[in-house]
Amino acid sequence: MLTYAEALEKVLSTVRQLPAEDVALEDLCDRFLSAPVQAAFDLPRFDNSAVDGFGVLLSDVSAATESSAAHLVLIDTIHAGESGSVPVLARGQTVKILTGAPVPPSVEAVIMREFCDEENGAVSVKTQATASENIRRKGDEVKQGQEVLPAGVQVTPPVVGLIASFGHERFSVTKQPRVAVVVTGDELVKPGDSLKDGQIFESNSFALAAAVKAMGLPRCMTIHALDSREATTSAFQQAIEQADVIISAGGVSVGEHDYVKVALEEDLKAQTVFWRIAIKPGKPVYFGFIDQQIDGEARPQRKLIFGLPGNPVSALVTFNLFVKPALRKMQGAAEPAKMPWAGVLESDLKKKPGRMDFVRGILGCSPAGALSVSPTRGQDSHMLSGLAKANCLIQFPADSERIAKGQCIQLELLDWRS
Ligand code: AMP
Ligand code: MG
Repeated sequence: MLTYAEALEKVLSTVRQLPAEDVALEDLCDRFLSAPVQAAFDLPRFDNSAVDGFGVLLSDVSAATESSAAHLVLIDTIHAGESGSVPVLARGQTVKILTGAPVPPSVEAVIMREFCDEENGAVSVKTQATASENIRRKGDEVKQGQEVLPAGVQVTPPVVGLIASFGHERFSVTKQPRVAVVVTGDELVKPGDSLKDGQIFESNSFALAAAVKAMGLPRCMTIHALDSREATTSAFQQAIEQADVIISAGGVSVGEHDYVKVALEEDLKAQTVFWRIAIKPGKPVYFGFIDQQIDGEARPQRKLIFGLPGNPVSALVTFNLFVKPALRKMQGAAEPAKMPWAGVLESDLKKKPGRMDFVRGILGCSPAGALSVSPTRGQDSHMLSGLAKANCLIQFPADSERIAKGQCIQLELLDWRS
């Protein structure tokens, strides 16, 4: 059986990045840059003041103190947004400059107004200054033409701000995949309807759709297939027509009513990349694809299909482990897979060797200031409450049987939004 790392590598090498599109600033957040952000001009664009204060020549205030102020003549005021005359300071003169206003070349420093008294066109300065103090120099942050952010970065609020500050109304990002969710099972009833004996409320389509939405992706369509080969094939057929990525839950194991694999492989001619991985929860995960030739397009369109297990914890954990990196890579993410973290175990862990166990955990900070992690209660793969409380997945390596309290262990953060 494949290891977690091998399966993830197979997923990532099967995924193809989607084309780019221009998107308005308002809709950029969460998207992935398909081109670098390059400085269209120097930032700051011109020398400007970091404070409300008074522009001075250093020599005029070199002896100024609280008790022995330097007395200067106020010759002008410059507000933010002003582009009028540029006052030239002579000895003994000062100019009032407001935050963000251009600083004239003759000004050597700006002294905060808190250290000055202004009265009838005269200003007493009660402190010395150093060269360029409180002046934000042109190009200090970035120079024109410099790469500020590379392609593949996910847009966050400061990235939106940065792009806007260069004057772009729109920016190039990678398109987002359309996702469909197929849930399988005769026992499933839509929340809100009434349950008969042996039935349960269907939760996976809602949880998976929420996980897709939390990534900033468009709303996904969901289909419920009953446990028959025809219904399963037809649900996948419909999903494949409408989506780029199909995530199914349930019906993928070796039970008599598990039709996902046969429907995909035999009826829909999907190419299987793998089925079953040495992990827990989530052993029976299926991953495959169908390449569809679209008229007028040079390259076939690749539809990815993830057959996740039906147990709600397994479905969401395997979504995190495999589907999320695939959705990120399709969008051009420079780092599609999660960065590993580590924490000190707060209690012993035990298991049989053979599969990597993703133990639902809570990462916190110990009183000594170290990152510490404890498993949540309710570790079975049908116990959603354990996952609902968790903020990380502890990676209990496949070969290990026991890890003692106090050991440092690798984990993945469960951050549904990124
Ligand atoms: P399966 O993988 O189809 O054998 O399902 C494994 C377990 O998950 C069974 O107990 C199912 O009843 C349950 N299950 C499957 N699909 C769903 C779903 N969409 N919502 C809630 N539970 C489910
Ligand atoms: Mg089932």
